[in-house]
Amino acid sequence: MTFNWEKNVRTVEPYTPGEQPTDKNIIKLNTNENPYGPSDEIKKVIASLDDDYLRRYPDFAARDLVKELAAFHKVSDDMVFVGVGSDDVLAMCFMTFFNSDKPIIFPDITYSFYPVWAEMLRIPYKTIPLMDDFTIDTKSFVSEGKESGGVVIANPNAPTSILLGKDKIKEIIESSKDSVVIVDEAYIDFAEDGSSMLDLVNDYDNLIVVRTYSKSRSLAGLRIGYAVSNPKMIKYLNDVKYSYNSYTMNYPSIVIGSAVIKDNDYFKEVISKVKATREWFTDELKELGFKVLPSSTNFVFASPQDGRAKEIFEAAKKKGIFFRYFNLPKIDDYLRITIGVDDDMKTVISFLKDFLTT
Ligand SMILES: *Cc1c(COP(=O)(O)O)cnc(C)c1O
Repeated sequence: MTFNWEKNVRTVEPYTPGEQPTDKNIIKLNTNENPYGPSDEIKKVIASLDDDYLRRYPDFAARDLVKELAAFHKVSDDMVFVGVGSDDVLAMCFMTFFNSDKPIIFPDITYSFYPVWAEMLRIPYKTIPLMDDFTIDTKSFVSEGKESGGVVIANPNAPTSILLGKDKIKEIIESSKDSVVIVDEAYIDFAEDGSSMLDLVNDYDNLIVVRTYSKSRSLAGLRIGYAVSNPKMIKYLNDVKYSYNSYTMNYPSIVIGSAVIKDNDYFKEVISKVKATREWFTDELKELGFKVLPSSTNFVFASPQDGRAKEIFEAAKKKGIFFRYFNLPKIDDYLRITIGVDDDMKTVISFLKDFLTT
């Protein structure tokens, strides 16, 4: 039965996040969290949180956090916007910058939240197919960008794990000069140094770079994301945010998020551990006959020799090992596997060996 009021409902097809099981004993490699927790320094900060602040509203501008991020990235404070995870920041960007009748463009295989926000906000969009090797088709982005209402690129891309070169992104930004280009750098810390577009935000009037604490900074549970751009774009973004929900960042996130950005040695150590495990794990998968895309992230996108990705996904789950599997055209013979601690990845390899030989 349908009620009349339902005609006025904003109907949406929601995004499906990766499963979050409550059982702590599983090997959880399905949502690209960092396997290493925050450092002892940060645990001390968490223990010393002043509970009187829970009674009060937080600083709506999250100034301490903005200041630390601006200092870390060597930009001015008015070039940083913070939000509740980069999902919040990205949704705010879509709302703020994508109000054209022309379609925004993004790859056909990318972060699956982009089409969901576009649908929810009634933004027309068009997807650009990846090349056969799963790289981004720069040429099409350059030609379509000229006439687009905006561009969104995850770099490195997910779930492919592949990094697009800085020069190619520059070409896309320059061809799309009448619309805003969002570069979602959720995984950039796991890529080669110098791959980020962040140091170029002053060179363009239409570039915004989005980052998250969820992957490289081991704090998915705290929900912190941010954007860096020119002061004009950040002002537009804040105007929309304050028209929607002003107190988005809670007090613990502001305090812990500020401390984490100063904890740079630990951060670098964690990144290099994840990268080393990724290289070892990639070699092992190749030994087992997997095709593995070249990863610049904390996960690998890999296809077993005989196309049994779905079967492997299901068998692994029964053994308490969670991967991500997308039952979608072009990628339904791939598994996305987060890089965990060495012991867990060894367990994965022995599971795969058993599976493939029986
Ligand atoms: C994980 C992820 C995000 C969202 O991360 P938050 O936890 O909301 O900060 C955004 N973009 C991509 C490509 C991601 O993989």
